[in-house]
Amino acid sequence: MTAAELAQRAREAAVRAYAPYSGFRVGSVVVADDGTTYAGANVENAAYGSTICAESTAIAYAVSSGARRLTTVAVACIDAESVEDAYPCGQCRQRMTEFGVETVLVTAGSGEVRQHALAELLPHGFRLK
Ligand SMILES: [Zn+2]
Repeated sequence: MTAAELAQRAREAAVRAYAPYSGFRVGSVVVADDGTTYAGANVENAAYGSTICAESTAIAYAVSSGARRLTTVAVACIDAESVEDAYPCGQCRQRMTEFGVETVLVTAGSGEVRQHALAELLPHGFRLK
């Protein structure tokens, strides 16, 4: 699946976001090492700290489905007026590190798909031996 196709799938996932408080709808698609894809969207909560990011929702879906090695994460926000770019937060970057993600695709507010190495976004992620 191409970067553009993954970005489109992430935008489609964002439609299913539960974001009644911020109105900031984000979708994500995770690709496992066998090519299987898992989509997620942000899930907000009245107790804001209980909110789950789209990327983490997709990662949890992949891992709870049996995937252990992930290669790519695409993320997109469909409410571009509320944010310039939808880059993953620090916690999501750390979760990506745990499962070996190498590539992160971010759809910018302009619609441009930017490709980054996870090591560029989180150069010293925490790892246990
Ligand atoms: Zn996050």
